[in-house]
Amino acid sequence: SVPLSFFGGIGGASRLGILVKGSNYLELLAKVDTVVFDKTGTLTNGTFDVVAIRPADGIDESGVLEQAAHAEAFSDHPIALSVKQAFAGAVDETRVADAHEESGHGVAARVDGRQVLVGNDKLMAEHGVAYRDCDMVGTVLHVAVDGRYLGHIVIADVVKDDAAQTIRDLHAAGVKRCVMLTGDRADVAASVASEIGLDEFHAQLLPEDKVDAVETLLAGEANGGKLAFVGDGINDAPVLTRADVGIAMGAMGSDAAIEAADVVLMDDKPSNIAHAMHIARKTMRIVW
Ligand code: ADP
Ligand code: MG
Repeated sequence: SVPLSFFGGIGGASRLGILVKGSNYLELLAKVDTVVFDKTGTLTNGTFDVVAIRPADGIDESGVLEQAAHAEAFSDHPIALSVKQAFAGAVDETRVADAHEESGHGVAARVDGRQVLVGNDKLMAEHGVAYRDCDMVGTVLHVAVDGRYLGHIVIADVVKDDAAQTIRDLHAAGVKRCVMLTGDRADVAASVASEIGLDEFHAQLLPEDKVDAVETLLAGEANGGKLAFVGDGINDAPVLTRADVGIAMGAMGSDAAIEAADVVLMDDKPSNIAHAMHIARKTMRIVW
């Protein structure tokens, strides 16, 4: 017969694709009462569909998408991949130079020699571009060429199948706070939070703001409760390090995140977080 401890401990967890980097993390995991999630790619699929293209006067929709797809030519961000997918024509990388990511804001690049910006309100504000507000719920990508506003693209992501059940399972296991941190807009964050039953969310955060938010949550921990942070990798390494237990989603995660994490999930299902906590608690009871 299979011993009770078969699915316990680090070995048992690894058989489920949950890699724990030391038994001390199992002990911490068993005491987690706050779980903090990144949004894009962690609670949502990270594959955005284009919902609308809203060009400025005198501009056509295809032009907005073409400029955006080219400016995103060298970005691996889930938003960039989705924009390139929506652009039917092939992206011609030879038209693009000086491309760079502005973390939590968007991208900037030269396309056909002109300066193209693609990103959120903050990016436009930072470069002094007068942009039009978007009245739709969704992630908004403003596009500007040489300081002139071209319009915006509204994209939407889908919540992962097992996200709502995972939050219910974590609450049932005694987790007090399930929190989401995101760089996206407040309306998008609010809609995800209510759809899956989160206790708390914070929106429009830059990567460094996420570290501050985790610090605040850590300061609020009582009775030895521990905090876990779950992210898919992009810009997440500092927060993964700061949490009591940093959990990286391995399949989509970046190398830096996998290195910074204490626990690596081999697939991208949020339900694995509940499984990992379950195993940790069982193991601790056996040890004690
Ligand atoms: P999250 O916190 O949801 O994981 P990020 O911190 O990666 O998101 O990005 C925050 C916001 O910055 C996005 O919602 C988007 O508005 C903007 N952004 C980031 N990367 C890009 C990009 N490659 N292209 C356009 N916008 C981007
Ligand atoms: Mg992210």
